[in-house]
Amino acid sequence: MTEEPGADQPDDLMERVVNLCKRRGFIFPSAEIYGGFRSTYDYGPLGSLLLRNVKDAWWRSMVQERDDVVGLDAAILSTPRIWEASGHLTNFTDPLVDCRNCHERWRADKIEGSCPNCGSTDLTEPRAFNLMFKTFAGPVEEDATVAYLRPETAQGMFVNFVNVLQTTRKKPPFGIAQVGKSFRNEITPQNFVFRTREFEQMELEYFVPPPDAPRWFEYWLDERFSWYRDFGIPEDKLRLRHHDADELSHYSAATADVEFLFPWGWDELEGIANRTDFDLKAHSAASGEKLEYFDQTSGERYVPYVIEPAAGATRTMMAFLLAAYDEDEVGGEKRTVLHLDPRLSPYQVAVLPLSKNDALVPLSRQVLGQLQPICMCDFDVTQSIGRRYRRQDEVGTPFCVTVDFESLEDGAVTVRERDTTEQVRVPIDTLAGEIRERLGR
Ligand code: ATP
Repeated sequence: MTEEPGADQPDDLMERVVNLCKRRGFIFPSAEIYGGFRSTYDYGPLGSLLLRNVKDAWWRSMVQERDDVVGLDAAILSTPRIWEASGHLTNFTDPLVDCRNCHERWRADKIEGSCPNCGSTDLTEPRAFNLMFKTFAGPVEEDATVAYLRPETAQGMFVNFVNVLQTTRKKPPFGIAQVGKSFRNEITPQNFVFRTREFEQMELEYFVPPPDAPRWFEYWLDERFSWYRDFGIPEDKLRLRHHDADELSHYSAATADVEFLFPWGWDELEGIANRTDFDLKAHSAASGEKLEYFDQTSGERYVPYVIEPAAGATRTMMAFLLAAYDEDEVGGEKRTVLHLDPRLSPYQVAVLPLSKNDALVPLSRQVLGQLQPICMCDFDVTQSIGRRYRRQDEVGTPFCVTVDFESLEDGAVTVRERDTTEQVRVPIDTLAGEIRERLGR
């Protein structure tokens, strides 16, 4: 029998997960053949599938399964006017200190008075450092052509508020959702993909009548907390942390973070904020365009408040990996297993011919062809069947389908489940339906 997922996690869990990510093709250090590039990472064959599933799971619950949220995919490059109005040009800064001894640079709020590198307390006064990546749009590098890579996806929703309102005929309460890359010139990228300079966000801006904002804030706290739990993060590794008044951003009336118990302690997965009408009013003032809602039935005109659940896709993927990682024993043999929710697993099914025998491979390919339209499948003919089961367990594949010599006689295959390792015989004719049912599709 297997243990409870997540029980008895090893002290060096982080190292084991990072090793697994490299070894099995989830996450590679970027530009590795050139010695790597400043805490950037590439998502490999399995990582790109897992990351895509995390984003799809978010999109499904935030957009597809609701009738009050629409999607958006805004530009990454944009005019400084957006960042001037949003406050990012002046406020989006980290306080930096330099160590006068070893010349390393640190975020003042992340160290406790001494340099983590050499221990010296001879540090400069903190200076503000803007986190936005600056570039130039066009061939001439001058002030007039300055552009920024977006440090969050949110502003795309605010500047398109009227476009979306007019084209969708939505009315508050309604939301605009976006998933995409954001960029921050972090001083201290760290903890693998937890904090990187290039990352992916999943953000919703939910526009509501101002008096209803506190109620919707509570609603989104519940929704978002449940989402992580429903996708397999154990409740004892999840918590909501409300920000104190002195911690709130300049635009926020209330903020709470969904936190995960990372190997180094509790840390943020997602921030949920009541941003009031700050953003729409700021862009309205700066652009001269009215960003408001006119209710034709009541004749009322107002600037909606915004509740923003803002999550990180890459950071969340890492939390799912950490929560799913387990080592247990099956039949007296040790194995590494990822107890990922099947909706998140890179592959849902692995089709495994018992041997490379000429008769088995064609039937196995036929089985593969039946399953590929339903879910992501791996096909593996190398090594012993036991080794192949372990390889699939290690990357979180919930079902292995084995085609053996008996299959040629009885037209059935063996379906093995990852967590229990239970095996049942299923006729090939009904296999697709069985897999669909087990995956809830
Ligand atoms: P932090 O305090 O960790 O820097 P933040 O509070 O500035 O994060 P937000 O601006 O609220 O983060 O961004 C929303 C989400 O985007 C975060 O909860 C996180 O999941 C993700 N995120 C932000 N910065 C990064 C980063 N540098 N690398 C990876 N994910 C990030």
